[in-house]
Amino acid sequence: MKKDDSPNQGLLAAQDDKILACVHCGLCLEACPTYLATGDENDSPRGRVYLMRAVDEGRLDLLSPTFENHLNRCLGCRACEQVCPSGVEYGHLLEAGRAELWTKKERRGPVGFLLKTVLRRIWIFPGRLRFLFALGRVFRDSKLPALILKTGLLQRLSPRLGFGLALLECSGPRRPKTAPAAKAQTSPEPVEENPKQPALIFRGCVMEGLFGRINDATARVLAVNGFAAEIPADQVCCGALHAHSGDLESARNLARRNIEAFGDGAAPIVTNAGGCGAMLCEYGHLLADDAEFAARAKAFSARVRDVGQALAQTGRPKKGAPSETRVTCDVSCHLQNGQHAGEDSLAMLRAAGVDFVPLNGADVCCGGAGIYNLLEPELSAQILGEKLENIKKTGVGVLATGNPGCHLQIAAGMKQLEKTDLEVCHPVELLDESYRRAGYYSENE
Ligand code: SF4
Ligand code: SF4
Repeated sequence: MKKDDSPNQGLLAAQDDKILACVHCGLCLEACPTYLATGDENDSPRGRVYLMRAVDEGRLDLLSPTFENHLNRCLGCRACEQVCPSGVEYGHLLEAGRAELWTKKERRGPVGFLLKTVLRRIWIFPGRLRFLFALGRVFRDSKLPALILKTGLLQRLSPRLGFGLALLECSGPRRPKTAPAAKAQTSPEPVEENPKQPALIFRGCVMEGLFGRINDATARVLAVNGFAAEIPADQVCCGALHAHSGDLESARNLARRNIEAFGDGAAPIVTNAGGCGAMLCEYGHLLADDAEFAARAKAFSARVRDVGQALAQTGRPKKGAPSETRVTCDVSCHLQNGQHAGEDSLAMLRAAGVDFVPLNGADVCCGGAGIYNLLEPELSAQILGEKLENIKKTGVGVLATGNPGCHLQIAAGMKQLEKTDLEVCHPVELLDESYRRAGYYSENE
């Protein structure tokens, strides 16, 4: 069929130039976790771009299981973009491919129905989402999840549900197994009484709903480093879950609401979740064809900083009191490949003075990828297995990561698959604790 006769003209067709940029060199194959796990070319970036081209040219039906399955099996980690000599913007292609599927296909089965319901009926309404997370926290803190998981029954009946419950359980408060011993007493550097640098904190929905303590630590650390941070009240979800599932209409609506909420000033928009940060950086692309919002979206994205980047732009994060705690770090794909802020995350650990142990394969996805671990549980577990092996080899008991999805995936994986407790936290929490040891905070903070 000639391309012009294809029934699939649409979002993928609009990405023609990006599809044709792929020269099929295959240099991305070894960087792709799904290709390495399955050995199937259709699970590689080159294979997926080829499938998109086939759909775009009308040689493959958009609704074919081959197209949908291999696109669904992509983690969206964007490791392939980092090694591609032709600069193929794979993330945008994936987004367009999934959006084609979302708009032209009724989501089948209970999982698809549930996903669509949650994304469209709950996630875009902040009040409903807050209520859902409040219920989740009450359930989590009731210790019931821990008891259910201990029996092993749910995991046997439904491994997917069992792992989902383990994810919720692992979002609970941090309980450091050992109090970090201070190596040396450090005097706090002076904190400016009137911090001059404005900043606007993006609190995120999973981060705010399950990890409010990390948002609080972020605000304290910013204050120590001279930021006068505010939290815009009308902010909403960043839209990452929607965009990655193909629901671009909802993602665009959320983006417009955030642009309004954060205004058009120059203050940096500070996030502490790699997944949210990478999405906020994409608003310029997401709204490029919106006559009213295109320019504002581009300016908004240019202001987005991970907390590590915001601190680095002050010249350094102030140093806290060092500790002998041995810590390894798994930066998170979106922080690394979307925001290019991996190095700034490590700088927070250096400022926190921990005993840092590098992690082999820290640049490889953990298999969490938003809700990929629930949608593609087998492949996710296979990819996670390698990450857990590498973590065990470090011999450390604490892992820092800059994204709540990775946090939950690694903590739950270690507990469920390896039957080992690993303390997982955010780099900014360790920096915050080092400031507390150094005496930056009053008793009540
Ligand atoms: S590295 Fe880039 S150009 Fe080469 S096959 Fe992969 S996506 Fe295509
Ligand atoms: S985004 Fe990740 S999983 Fe998907 S093709 Fe690229 S490297 Fe592979």
